[in-house]
Amino acid sequence: MSLLEGSNLRKTYRLSRRTSVEALRGVDVKIAAGEMVAIMGPSGSGKSTLMHLLGLLHAPDRSDGPAPGLWFDGTDAGSLSDRDRTRLRARSMGFVFQSFNLVPTLTAEENVALAAEYAGTSRGAARTAAREALDSVGLADRAGHRPMELSGGEQQRVAIARAIVNDPTVLLGDEPTGNLDSARAGEVLGLLRTFNRERGQTVVLVTHDPEVGATCDRIIRMRDGRIVPAGRPLGPRRPNQATFEPFAARQRRGPPSTGIAGPPH
Ligand code: ADP
Repeated sequence: MSLLEGSNLRKTYRLSRRTSVEALRGVDVKIAAGEMVAIMGPSGSGKSTLMHLLGLLHAPDRSDGPAPGLWFDGTDAGSLSDRDRTRLRARSMGFVFQSFNLVPTLTAEENVALAAEYAGTSRGAARTAAREALDSVGLADRAGHRPMELSGGEQQRVAIARAIVNDPTVLLGDEPTGNLDSARAGEVLGLLRTFNRERGQTVVLVTHDPEVGATCDRIIRMRDGRIVPAGRPLGPRRPNQATFEPFAARQRRGPPSTGIAGPPH
């Protein structure tokens, strides 16, 4: 059985009464336990939106058309209360974003421990788990540093430690190497690959980077809010709102979520 499964996933962002962006136009997707998958495609094709739905950060549209389905490890995510969905996300999912999203006033250890406490771990045990997680990303000696005192690559490794501190079933990354030079990107990718191979964690990465795609077991290609069937050439892009308004729409979205707090919307 698939670990993550979505059917007829649709998402339209209404920008005004007259303008809307169809970010996802009915996506069916299955990701097996233990897979490492890249979601690739042009900017605005719906990759991040799909990842946010799979990560239960946002809910698929329910209006018009057949009802969407979204399952995580056999659980129907659509039937969960906000509270249960938030709990499931905190305990079973780890998120890594392009911008590292660390709390600037907290040390690396405190940033990581916060995610463990958020998932219900006691303060002392959270500190211990945070030190272990930092050790597993090679940053045991940076536990007391604040984000400003760390390089970009180190900050992203702290973010990975935060993502794995609760030993999640799945790691979801939205351009996790996007702000890093190729050597640092290679380190981050290597860590994710190691967690996938050695701990059996399923990894789903939204990426533009062909090297990231090449490292994954499978590539899900997106175009204009749909998954391109494997083996089919991409063909010309369909002109739509989603392709020419991404920047304006992104600005309206506000800062990215840290993935460790807040209910889905
Ligand atoms: P990708 O990750 O492939 O670049 P996204 O999923 O971020 O694509 O976005 C798909 C389309 O939906 C884009 O046109 C984008 O501007 C729009 N979009 C995404 N999120 C929002 C939002 N919160 N509000 C309005 N439009 C959005």
